[in-house]
Amino acid sequence: MARCGFIGLGIMGEPMARNLLNAGNEIIVWNRTKSKTDTLVAEGAHLGLSPSDVAEQSDFIFICVTNSQDVLDVVHGTDESEGVIEGVKKGTIIVDHSTIAPDVSRQLAAELEKIGVPLIDAPVSGGDKGAIGGTLSIMCGGDEDALNTVMPLLQIMGSQITHCGPSGSGQTVKLCNQIAVCINNYALAEALVFCSLNNVKPGVMLEAISAGAAGSWQISNLGPLILKRDFSPGFKLGLQRKDLGLAIDAADSVNMPLFGTTLVDRMFSVAERLHGTDAGTQALISALETLTDVEVSAE
Ligand code: NAP
Repeated sequence: MARCGFIGLGIMGEPMARNLLNAGNEIIVWNRTKSKTDTLVAEGAHLGLSPSDVAEQSDFIFICVTNSQDVLDVVHGTDESEGVIEGVKKGTIIVDHSTIAPDVSRQLAAELEKIGVPLIDAPVSGGDKGAIGGTLSIMCGGDEDALNTVMPLLQIMGSQITHCGPSGSGQTVKLCNQIAVCINNYALAEALVFCSLNNVKPGVMLEAISAGAAGSWQISNLGPLILKRDFSPGFKLGLQRKDLGLAIDAADSVNMPLFGTTLVDRMFSVAERLHGTDAGTQALISALETLTDVEVSAE
């Protein structure tokens, strides 16, 4: 049984923390909006009073918040709550599951290393289904010994845990994942609109190409939702655009144009205007439908 702190109980963090709890670990939770801790506390987790309080009580600290500044706020503290750094003990391992800028992960790891606290950047892929089922793909950067120590806990939350290299590498690989995902999503949108404009039933096309070389997670999972005009989120447009922004910034720093991703990000901005930031990423197709004056449907 390990003493695990968990900070950030959103769509991803809550089920990840629950899996650690159900595996028999002692869990101390904190969330900025306190009401989101109620369910886990009722299930047996302890309530931490602040990130600092969680750190004092934990040998492992997991963080799953939104963006770079949010991770920095949790670690350094704010006017409202004392940060992890105030309470953490030498030797405690911090695992950050948030998707943030690789540079920020590297800088934070270097800062924490000075006080004897390893930081593993460990962003995840697999959506809420993967978080609930404990089948996430977890992309890790940082010290190998620290990663090996925390590995049994990561294996409770994920089925594919990859050591990608030193600090920041997990974030870089997660951004590669987002580049591939968004271009795949756009390919699906183009195929569907092209098909509709050429008078072939989109459902027939999807069935045919899913089984061949074009088959992909995006086609199998998002294709049927588009045909039903169901734009409810698995992964929200706003979070997708946050990640593409991180990828474009990271590409700028190595003078890479990232043409495909930038184009899709621009199309996502139209989809976000049409459907709002909380719509699912399959809403991307609306941007192309607007340009071509067609609506893809099952018929
Ligand atoms: P979410 O449901 O929006 O939850 C975000 C969590 O972060 C909430 O608990 C929120 O607290 C907390 N938070 C945000 N800013 C904070 C701050 N400054 N201080 C303290 N807490 C703060 O998001 P999510 O879907 O769980 O995503 C979490 C991370 O996983 C993100 O980096 C996301 O990109 C990544 N991710 C998400 C998915 C997915 O399918 N959803 C898949 C892979 C990776 P409040 O409750 O107070 O708002």
